[in-house]
Amino acid sequence: MNPKVSSCHQGTDLPQCLFCKSSAIQPLEIEGANKPGQPYFICKLCGLIFVEFEIDKAFEHSLTNDVVRQPPSSHNLDEFGEKFGSVKYFNFYAGMNQELGETVIAQSVVDAIKMYHLNGSKNKNISILEVGCATGWLLSRLQRTFPNAQMMGLEPNPHSCYTAWSKFGVEVRNGTVQSYLPVHGECFDVVVMMGNLQLHPDPFCTLSLLAKSLCPGGLIIFETKNPHSSPRLLANLVARIPWISRTTFARKIQRQSYNGLRVGIPMSVITRHVKYLDLELCKLETTGPRSLRFQSKKMNGRTFRIMWKVADAIDCIRGQRAWTFVVARATRCRK
Ligand SMILES: [Zn+2]
Repeated sequence: MNPKVSSCHQGTDLPQCLFCKSSAIQPLEIEGANKPGQPYFICKLCGLIFVEFEIDKAFEHSLTNDVVRQPPSSHNLDEFGEKFGSVKYFNFYAGMNQELGETVIAQSVVDAIKMYHLNGSKNKNISILEVGCATGWLLSRLQRTFPNAQMMGLEPNPHSCYTAWSKFGVEVRNGTVQSYLPVHGECFDVVVMMGNLQLHPDPFCTLSLLAKSLCPGGLIIFETKNPHSSPRLLANLVARIPWISRTTFARKIQRQSYNGLRVGIPMSVITRHVKYLDLELCKLETTGPRSLRFQSKKMNGRTFRIMWKVADAIDCIRGQRAWTFVVARATRCRK
């Protein structure tokens, strides 16, 4: 079957599904908050929602052989700024209440490690990698809980790396999963990726690389946005009705629901991919929207706070809350 089927999408070719490679793709005229005008697509077979993402090859390449091992001085931080000035958009959660975020996110990670990793509850010297560690607050919190653990962060934004070093003294490599892991081939007992999988150009490639970097018995713990939560289904619906979709309120619903979402992975797809990677699924559950859990109240108007609360109450019953939290275990060595 020809994967490139031209259709009503303004005469241009539609992409293949990132997951099942199907060409049964439908454009979704949803207004996202990241890149205005970038169309979303939905796969009719598996339900994956995605944008066509242009990988900045030059950026990936520059990270491959440019892994920073020492804290940069203020002098070469300026050089980083010049070189990577364009990556500032990786900071999506600027309005997050860090204290609450630490409590909620870190607790779920700590609980998962203690419950599902053999040595986690014994507080042994396990190795932990955090992908997209931003300014290192979660690593620093994990270091306090697991003082004997070896910590490493991986972060594409050099400005965040610098803050992580200077503020928490945690070891952070400047890179991405694609640029760092295949080159260095390290193994970890625990890989944590909280809230950034939906930003990766190919999240299935990311998960595959992370699965390969797990020691036998190692855990992968991640949280990503659930495309089947009520606000996202509502955004999807209003975007399909022409006379509503362009109204200010409909656009706000779309932007709020799709904020920071480039790939929306349904739970059924996560289950299938985890199985394909030969990992044992330990936990799969949905959790409430971050705007209710720990974002600053100023970030969301009163109307949208109420909307999220009502939607979350409905989603609790449906078992389809805003975020999907996953814990999976490597049952054997994969190298
Ligand atoms: Zn698909």
